[in-house]
Amino acid sequence: MNEKEIKNGCKGNSGTSLMGYSKDLFKKYNYTCVYCGNYFGGSFENWMRLTREHVIPVSRLTGDDAKYKNYDKNLRVACLTCNNLANRKTYNEFKGLPIDNRIVKTLEAKKIVIKERRDEFERFYIKCVEKNMDKD
Ligand SMILES: [Zn+2]
Repeated sequence: MNEKEIKNGCKGNSGTSLMGYSKDLFKKYNYTCVYCGNYFGGSFENWMRLTREHVIPVSRLTGDDAKYKNYDKNLRVACLTCNNLANRKTYNEFKGLPIDNRIVKTLEAKKIVIKERRDEFERFYIKCVEKNMDKD
């Protein structure tokens, strides 16, 4: 540990997600991915796979919606895999709804899209990777 780390203790570096501003969020949602439901607590390697998830991406919160950029109901925890699989599309069909409803609808839509992608990867894994994994 360097001098700065000792001085900060568990406050961490507020400029980073893992060591700073997401620490309480991860705890609030029990280190569990909102999309796949997998638990990422219990070890350093699991913790390193956690990300701060904006259900409605910040880039979509413009104009009158800009005030919701740090809205806590829009913040969740996602694992790196699900975060990478998350569809960045706008979900324009929810645009006219009040923000809380938009978040719920967007979350439901993303859960479906991410589950379909995960299932697709899993089928590929079972068919093409798993049985060959331990062979030379
Ligand atoms: Zn996940």
